[in-house]
Amino acid sequence: MEEGSSFQRREEVEIAIVGGGLGGLALALALQERGITAHLYEKHHDLRSDTATAIGIGANGVKSLNGIRSGLSKVMEDAGTYASCLKLTLVNKKGEVRYREQTFEQGEYVSIGWKQAQLVLASYINKDLIHCSHRLVRFESSEAGVDAYFEVTDENTSSLEYIKVVRTKLLVGADGIWSVVRRTIVGDSPRYLHLVDWNAYVPNPGAKVFGGHGEHEIVLLFDEDGETRSWLVDAGKGFSLWILRKLDLSGDLAKTLKRSKGGLGIPGAKARALQQLDGLDGWDDIKAAIKATDETYIFERPIMDNLPIKRWSDSHRRVLLMGDAAHAQYVGPGQGARTAFEDAHQLSILLKEAFSSSEDNSIATAVKKFEELRIPRMIKMQEYAAESTALPALVPEWVSKLTMEEKQKRALECQQWVHSYPEKMLCDPDSTYWK
Ligand SMILES: Cc1cc2nc3c(=O)[nH]c(=O)nc-3n(C[C@H](O)[C@H](O)[C@H](O)COP(=O)(O)OP(=O)(O)OC[C@H]3O[C@@H](n4cnc5c(N)ncnc54)[C@H](O)[C@@H]3O)c2cc1C
Repeated sequence: MEEGSSFQRREEVEIAIVGGGLGGLALALALQERGITAHLYEKHHDLRSDTATAIGIGANGVKSLNGIRSGLSKVMEDAGTYASCLKLTLVNKKGEVRYREQTFEQGEYVSIGWKQAQLVLASYINKDLIHCSHRLVRFESSEAGVDAYFEVTDENTSSLEYIKVVRTKLLVGADGIWSVVRRTIVGDSPRYLHLVDWNAYVPNPGAKVFGGHGEHEIVLLFDEDGETRSWLVDAGKGFSLWILRKLDLSGDLAKTLKRSKGGLGIPGAKARALQQLDGLDGWDDIKAAIKATDETYIFERPIMDNLPIKRWSDSHRRVLLMGDAAHAQYVGPGQGARTAFEDAHQLSILLKEAFSSSEDNSIATAVKKFEELRIPRMIKMQEYAAESTALPALVPEWVSKLTMEEKQKRALECQQWVHSYPEKMLCDPDSTYWK
């Protein structure tokens, strides 16, 4: 229901979600499945499509998706593909390689274009609940609720049409790594991880345009000192994903980028990507993939994260962060979307309880329980992700002193703990390193 002057309109909703990315859409769907109406506000005119990326969804993501809606991971798999194996190849300075393979059962690991994953989630959500061209600019929170201010723009001209003030019981900031909600309640900014990525999600039916990966395969190539990493991935439906990642200890590489937050099809991006492989042996497949890709498909970006924080809500527990806004982490371990799905799953369960309760402060109680359940897990995962950048400053001293075998055990235990979701949410008491 709308009212007010021609420039300012007001409406009231039960729950308002800011951001129509993977996390926001997953939460809107999870709540709808539990009979709770949440309105979602996205600043772009469409659900975003320019990421040039596919995402890998492992066991914890699969279980979260199926907790959000029964059978959802299979729908994602059908819109993308399943991965049957991860091939890890270490290249040393002499171009010699060491090789290891991890296999997956069908249904255990899904690879899907980012946009396709968004579209799958959106396809189940009541269309009247998704509001594009709505940019959150500020909010005011009190014990009674939140007033959130959105700039609503014309989808053809992008000119400002009016301000919408949304009154809500709970405002969820699922607005990504550059979150306005986080900036307002926490006040910090993302950190540059001294890594630069070039990636593209490109039509490559039957791997005829470029090779380097087989059907249902993820191929990761990396060198001993973490300077260069590449991925070639079957993303399903005749699409491949390639990623080239370069270490930038001095920060000089980031200075050569034309846009500080990155972007798609930036002039010169293809040449800059190829330049990173000059004089390196053993990287022919990724070179061939980059050469075969039209520059308009290539996304170039500095890699950032958000530092772990001990609280994700405002003082009234009426504004709450989730997904990248709460815990953006180094993308290497590929846990960003998976843990956003975990957030959506767990928050929807707690809000269902809150909406069934007659207590006045049931939403604030649900928010507090959510933070207790999620923050300790995410702090551990964020710290471990930062460690796997191999940036010396981000590796704790005690970890740097571990032997190679101990480090491998630590990595394996971490994977087992994370994948045990939703069991052992906070820690794994049976492990050596994740107690
Ligand atoms: C190259 C790359 C590879 C990755 N690979 C994987 C992987 O294999 N597996 C995995 O699990 N994760 C992966 N990730 C991470 C994953 O994609 C993110 O963690 C995930 O998309 C976060 O979802 P989110 O909804 O929190 O944020 P986002 O997807 O960033 O969505 C935020 C949304 O909020 C909107 N928004 C922002 N500000 C406002 C505002 N003021 N008002 C309204 N709307 C706003 C944005 O437009 C956007 O739509 C990868 C990321 C990258 C960059």
